[in-house]
Amino acid sequence: HMAEALLSLRSISAAYGRIQALCNVSVDVPEGEIVALLGSNGAGKTTTLNCISNLVDCTHGEVRLAGERIDRLGSDALVKRGIVQVPEGRQVFRDMSVRENLDLGAYLRRDRAGIRSDLEAVYTMFPRLKERQHQMAATLSGGEQQMLAIGRAVMARPRVMLFDEPSMGLSPLLVEQMFEIIERLHREQKITILLVEQNVQLALAVSSYGYILENGEISLHGPAARLANDEAVRRAYLGV
Ligand code: ATP
Repeated sequence: HMAEALLSLRSISAAYGRIQALCNVSVDVPEGEIVALLGSNGAGKTTTLNCISNLVDCTHGEVRLAGERIDRLGSDALVKRGIVQVPEGRQVFRDMSVRENLDLGAYLRRDRAGIRSDLEAVYTMFPRLKERQHQMAATLSGGEQQMLAIGRAVMARPRVMLFDEPSMGLSPLLVEQMFEIIERLHREQKITILLVEQNVQLALAVSSYGYILENGEISLHGPAARLANDEAVRRAYLGV
């Protein structure tokens, strides 16, 4: 792990009332890489992403972007610095058109030419969204809404994307497509990605490094290929 981390969590802790959700979690996401954050239900994965997005307060520790502390910034300031979370599920604006949802992703930008070319890039990546650009988001299938949520995040021109279980609820074919899209965002748009996933095998296949959360603590971390071959990981998460 030689590369300088673009996004860095240093010993963060978080709690919901008396429930300690995270304890001393440290995670490094080097620029231009995909890092997987894995673990079973309730391990604290979503809480970790929400600490980065400042939707949950850290009770301890720091979050840094390119060395600068960001753990007290509001959501607009985070988006301006290039951190965008793609939430779990399909949180699109149902009563707005596909196009309006995408335009909203760029609400803090003023570079009209850049916005236009990013819209074209999103439509190239998701031809379905272009075909349906004037339809209400509510009329899209679940998978299409997931694509729209990603497209909207891309419209913010992020440096770092935080994905919360992007494959959840998708058919096996769409799961494959989802992982291809994540690889394309990484390869073509050079976006740095922190990926929370239940699908451990696919997540490790696209990632360079992985962390495993158990009961709010990092129990294991290492290069993705090493984790994929680790006996304990295979038994606990790959069902072998
Ligand atoms: P999942 O994969 O099921 O979403 P997760 O790894 O994302 O799980 P978190 O959602 O971060 O886990 O939850 C971590 C712990 O914090 C769990 O014990 C959960 O019950 C608890 N928790 C999460 N959100 C809240 C909340 N708003 N209020 C109280 N407890 C919460």
